[in-house]
Amino acid sequence: MRTVSGPTDRVVIVGAGLGGLACALHLAGSGRRVTVLEREPVPGGRAGRLSVDGYEFDTGPTVLTMPDLIAEALGAVGEELRDWLDLTPLDPAYRAWYPDGSTLDVITDTTRMAAEISRVCGPREADGYLRFVEYARRLWQLERADFIERNLDAPTDLLTANLLKLLAAGAFRRLQTKINQFFRDPRTQRIFSFQAMYAGLAPHDALAIYAVIAYLDSVAGVSFPRGGIHAVSRAMAGAAEKHDVQIRYGTTVTRVETANGRATGVVTADGEFVPADVVVLNPDLPVAYRDLLPPGRRRKLTYSPSCVVLHVGSRQGYAKIAHHNIHFGQSWKDTFDEVIRRGELMTDPSLLVTNPSRTDPSVAPVGRHTYYVLAPVPNLDRAPFDWRGGLSRRYTDQLIETLEERGYVGFGDGVEVLRTVTPAEWEEQGMAAGTPFASAHSLFQTGPFRPGNLHRTLSNVVFTGSGTQPGVGVPMVLISGKLAASRITGGRP
Ligand SMILES: Cc1cc2nc3c(=O)[nH]c(=O)nc-3n(C[C@H](O)[C@H](O)[C@H](O)COP(=O)(O)OP(=O)(O)OC[C@H]3O[C@@H](n4cnc5c(N)ncnc54)[C@H](O)[C@@H]3O)c2cc1C
Repeated sequence: MRTVSGPTDRVVIVGAGLGGLACALHLAGSGRRVTVLEREPVPGGRAGRLSVDGYEFDTGPTVLTMPDLIAEALGAVGEELRDWLDLTPLDPAYRAWYPDGSTLDVITDTTRMAAEISRVCGPREADGYLRFVEYARRLWQLERADFIERNLDAPTDLLTANLLKLLAAGAFRRLQTKINQFFRDPRTQRIFSFQAMYAGLAPHDALAIYAVIAYLDSVAGVSFPRGGIHAVSRAMAGAAEKHDVQIRYGTTVTRVETANGRATGVVTADGEFVPADVVVLNPDLPVAYRDLLPPGRRRKLTYSPSCVVLHVGSRQGYAKIAHHNIHFGQSWKDTFDEVIRRGELMTDPSLLVTNPSRTDPSVAPVGRHTYYVLAPVPNLDRAPFDWRGGLSRRYTDQLIETLEERGYVGFGDGVEVLRTVTPAEWEEQGMAAGTPFASAHSLFQTGPFRPGNLHRTLSNVVFTGSGTQPGVGVPMVLISGKLAASRITGGRP
C-alpha cells in the first residue's frame, strides 16, 4: 500500500464531515496531532442540522446502516458507541407503498420478512427472498475486505481469488437481471433493486455487485439515533475533541499551500497559515481539486442524479405510515431514464418519505410531526434547470399534491414549516454538478477507477469523503476516513 511521504505528526483535516471525523478519530487513536478546520458552525457536513421554530431536521442521510463502523471509529480512541449514541433499530426498516394499493414491510429479521413476502406475494416469492439473502450476504463477504475496506493502488490489486468468485457469482452482470433471477413479482423486484439509485445508477445499468446496498439496509438493518442522524456527527466530533483533536468551526480554508511537491499547510479565509505535515481534504473531491489545490489536469467525471428535499414541520400525523416509506409510482425503468438519461423531472414520481418524529417525538414541538420528502431529480450537468427562478416553488407544490394523491390527506394544510432544498443549494454548498451524491458508481468510477485518496503529485495530500474510494453513503464515507488514516499511519485499515 502506498503511503504519504515524510513526517506525519501534525495533520490538518479540512472539513468535519463524517469522512473527516472518521479520519480524525483513527488518526488521534494512532497518536497524531490533529486539527480539523470546518467552515460551518457545526460538524457533519451533509449529515447536518436545520433547526426551525422548534423543529429539528436532519439535512442529509436518514437511512443509517452499519453502525458498527461508527463504533469502530469511536473505538479507535477507546470510546464506546453506547456512551455516545442511543440507537433504535427500525422495525420495519422501510414500508413500501405500491400503485396497486398494496404495501410491503421490509423487516430485518429474515424469518419474519419471508412471512411478510409470502403474505403479500406468495410463498414462491418468499423462497426467492431467502435465496437472495444468502446471495447478497456472500457478495458482501467477498467484496468487503478485498475491494471496499482496502486501499487500492492499481487495477491489478483487484486480482484476488474473491474476484473470480464474484465473477462466478454473476456479480458483474446487471443488477436488475440478477434480482429478477430471485424475484418474479414487480414489487419485490423494485424493493430489492431501487438502492442502485444510491450508487447513482438505474438498476438496469448498475452492476450486481451493488446488491450489497440492499443487503445492508434490508437485511443488516436500519437504525435511528435519538435526536436524529446529526447526533452521529455530534458524537464523533465530541469523542474526537475529548481525545485532543482540535476542531475549529467557522474556519473556511481557501487554499492548500505547497512547496517542492508537498503541502506545507493550509490558508484560511482570514489569511491565517496553518502548518501541517499532512493535509487531509474532506470537501467534495472535484471541488477540492478546483478550488483548494494548485491547477492541474482534471478528470471529467459523470455524476449521480441529485435530489430535492422537502423539510416539513406539520400539525398532521398519519397513523399508517412507518419511519421510512417508499412510494413507488407506476412506471419503473422510465422513471430512471427520465432522471438519469433524459435529464427530466419524474412524471410519475417514486418518493422517500421519512417521519422521524414517529420514532423520536423530541425532534418536533409537542403534538407536531416532522417529514422529510426526497425526490430524485437530474443533476445540474445533466439538466441545468433554473431552480431559483420559481421552479423550486412549483416542484414543491407538485410534490405536495402527489403526496396528497397517495394518501397523505391534508398534507398541504398541515404544513407549519416548509424548507425546500434543490440542486441549486447543493451546488452553493460546494457539491459538484449540484448533487450531494458525488460521482456515479459506474464501472470506471468504482474501486481503483474511482478518484484515488492520494493526490496525484503532492506526496502528503490525502482525500476522504464520498468523492473518493470506496464511495458514497455514510458507511462508505466512514470507511474512507479509515482508509485515509491508514495512508498516513501505514497501518492496516
Ligand atoms: C439529501 C441526502 C440524503 C442522503 N441520504 C443518505 C442515506 O439515507 N444514507 C446514507 O448512508 N447516506 C445518505 N446520504 C449520503 C451521505 O450523507 C454522504 O455520502 C456523506 O455524509 C458525505 O460525507 P463526506 O464526509 O464525504 O462529505 P461532507 O458531509 O460534505 O463533509 C465535507 C465537510 O467539509 C466542509 N468544507 C467544505 N469546504 C470547506 C472549506 N473550504 N473549508 C473548511 N471546511 C470545508 C463542509 O462544510 C463539510 O462539513 C445522503 C446525502 C444527502 C445530502
